[in-house]
Amino acid sequence: MKIAIVGGGISGLATAFYLRQSWPDAQIDLFEKELTLGGKMLTKEVEGFFFEAGSNGFLSNKPDTLELVKLSGCEDILIRSNDAARKRFIYKESLCPLPESPKAFLQTPLLSLAGKLRVAGEFFVPARKEDADETLQSFGYRRVGKEMTDVFLDAMVAGIFASIPNNISVNAAFPAVVKLEKEYGGLFKGMLAKKKKEAGPGGVLMSFTKGVSTFIDRLAKATRANIKMGTAVVKLEKCEQGYVISTDEKTELYNVVVLASSAYESAELLSILDASMANRLNTIAYSPISIVGFGYNTLAHDLDGFGLLTTTSAHKEILGVLWDSSIFNDRAPNDKKSVRVMIGGQRNANLALKSKEELIAMAEKGIKETMGIDATPDVVFIQQWEKGIPNYALGHGDKVKGLFENLKVHKGLYLNSNAYFGVGLNDCVSNSKKCAQKIVEDLSH
Ligand SMILES: Cc1cc2nc3c(=O)[nH]c(=O)nc-3n(C[C@H](O)[C@H](O)[C@H](O)COP(=O)(O)OP(=O)(O)OC[C@H]3O[C@@H](n4cnc5c(N)ncnc54)[C@H](O)[C@@H]3O)c2cc1C
Repeated sequence: MKIAIVGGGISGLATAFYLRQSWPDAQIDLFEKELTLGGKMLTKEVEGFFFEAGSNGFLSNKPDTLELVKLSGCEDILIRSNDAARKRFIYKESLCPLPESPKAFLQTPLLSLAGKLRVAGEFFVPARKEDADETLQSFGYRRVGKEMTDVFLDAMVAGIFASIPNNISVNAAFPAVVKLEKEYGGLFKGMLAKKKKEAGPGGVLMSFTKGVSTFIDRLAKATRANIKMGTAVVKLEKCEQGYVISTDEKTELYNVVVLASSAYESAELLSILDASMANRLNTIAYSPISIVGFGYNTLAHDLDGFGLLTTTSAHKEILGVLWDSSIFNDRAPNDKKSVRVMIGGQRNANLALKSKEELIAMAEKGIKETMGIDATPDVVFIQQWEKGIPNYALGHGDKVKGLFENLKVHKGLYLNSNAYFGVGLNDCVSNSKKCAQKIVEDLSH
């Protein structure tokens, strides 16, 4: 059995790991065009500070990632975020704590009294009958009202998807929320019913000692795959025996190929083999996002919490700030502090790809305006992702359904990345497990 995996992000690596469990002796070749593994899971050390270029970690309330950590022998490097870092903030006109109890919600200045009453009225909003896809904005306006949507959902969707409520499909991005309305008639009704059934703690943010790259490196070893870094797959062809993969150095035949690359990268590889699939893949757009990390040798601000997200109505250049050194203890050397500022996304797409000097200036201005920090950072880190996060736009679900229908005619070919069924690490790991299971099932018939 010869398997090729294109892409050494978490989707490619987790798929390789699960396939290895089923096939201890298979030849698994994993191609990664960059010189580092991990894709959007990448940690950079700068003078003792650890900055995440992408993902910060994952929530512990879904079992698959924790299971993968255990199976791959990485429990000793798993770390839990500080409890004190649970406090989150939203910046609308000033910095306000995200209310975490009904009492705090009643007292928050983030919504007017009318806005709060409208949220409470969600209980009486009838469930939608149609099944057609809907934007998060339309869903939010209908169920919890305009104010709640424009403040809370707006900030949340910027933080998770670097998106905006009127350009994201609620069905594709938040299927669990849509399910609450469908199954229980509303969000409050659903949450109450679920609370009765599934009493238990919510998720805690988890990561790894010295950042996510430590896990990626260990996971890569545990796959026992032939990992070919700095090796881009440049061509994919189909033949009677399977698929022929070409790199600049070599051409090789495989029984199974998994495209764990981004949608537009997979489209390029599929352009000869299936132009209609390639066209569909190219319609999945990506938001640009940049991360600016600052390390401070001394900082008066206590960074007491997880960080903040801004609302569109705040008209700030930054999407938010993560208070890194408060979230995980080892992100900054003793007594030093660090933050990461997010810039761009769909809200301010044109800002993400500005020059490094402009990004630093925007980040400094942003933290001054939102947190009152005026100090000059001692250490700076910058990561620009021109195509950072896939947009799950209206119609995403049907598009993906069509893609996977197309795929059925290409026996032995699989698509698995964050472009289809969820962008979070938990989604990527669960979908990789499913992808590996499907490959094993298909090949055992
Ligand atoms: C700034 C940012 C912050 C985030 N924060 C979080 C977070 O806190 N929590 C969370 O759960 N998720 C977060 N995410 C999302 C999560 O990190 C990603 O969805 C996930 O890492 C994507 O993994 P992937 O393997 O599907 O894709 P990628 O990581 O994009 O990996 C694809 C890989 O394929 C390689 N490749 C592409 N084409 C070829 C080719 N032809 N030949 C060889 N190699 C190829 C690429 O170089 C890349 O390494 C964040 C994302 C970003 C951008």
